Amino acid sequence: MKIGILGAMPEEIAFLGSRMGLERQTRMAQRDFLEGTWEGASVVLAYSRIGKVSAALTTALLIGTFRATHVILTGVAGALDRALRVGDVVIADRLMQHDLDASPLFPRYEIPLLGRSTFPCDLADSALTAAHAYIAEDFRRDVPPERAAAFGMSRPNVRRGLIVSGDQFLDDPAEGARIRGDLPEALCVEMEGAAVAQVCYEMGNVPCAVIRVISDDAGHSAAVDFTRFVRDVAEFLTGGIAARLVQSLHEEASRQDV
Ligand code: SAH
Repeated sequence: MKIGILGAMPEEIAFLGSRMGLERQTRMAQRDFLEGTWEGASVVLAYSRIGKVSAALTTALLIGTFRATHVILTGVAGALDRALRVGDVVIADRLMQHDLDASPLFPRYEIPLLGRSTFPCDLADSALTAAHAYIAEDFRRDVPPERAAAFGMSRPNVRRGLIVSGDQFLDDPAEGARIRGDLPEALCVEMEGAAVAQVCYEMGNVPCAVIRVISDDAGHSAAVDFTRFVRDVAEFLTGGIAARLVQSLHEEASRQDV
């Protein structure tokens, strides 16, 4: 087993990078791939850069070249569901591209010639368990209540459901309302997840997890200082949840080996 972990922005994987036991660093396609061990498991870590193409290329290399058998994407996202607040966690159970439209040749959102528009996340249940455990046991240690309060948050809620991806940062309330109307089940919007899940699907149903922390409301100007939020809160949440997930996957694989 080897777990590939990626984040779109350097800040999003800094937490993971600083804690892994680095064995090898390889530069490929203008990216750095860090291989080593973490929580006892064999891991390969990469920073993908922002957007679907960047995430797809990185995922294809993680699986095809670095032999990742599981993929975890971590990062931040804009809320679409009105009940979500900054700091809440969303675990994808499926993803789709909200800006893909090859109609009238193919139904809107459908990937041409693949015959589907949504892609599953097989590790959703395990990621959900990891999120609840991290928030209940470690979150207050990593992010003291005063620091969380500075961003208007307390204990994060965790939701599971549809995440949608597109190649634009959504900060226009009218556009947010349009996506909510067209895809009412979508919990949040970001720019990489559906690409990662599609590559995992096409490269042999590689199990994946997408773990997102809400950083903004995908509407009016960002409510929080984005960089500070990622550094002070989001990277602990996504990193802490990813650590728990890596640990549980590793334990499960070790049990199966004996
Ligand atoms: N404002 C940031 C730009 C980050 S781009 C900056 O100044 O650095 C947004 C990144 O966060 C993408 O990787 C995307 O996946 C995620 N994201 C967070 N909120 C988003 C939103 N409202 N719309 C789209 N992507 C969002």
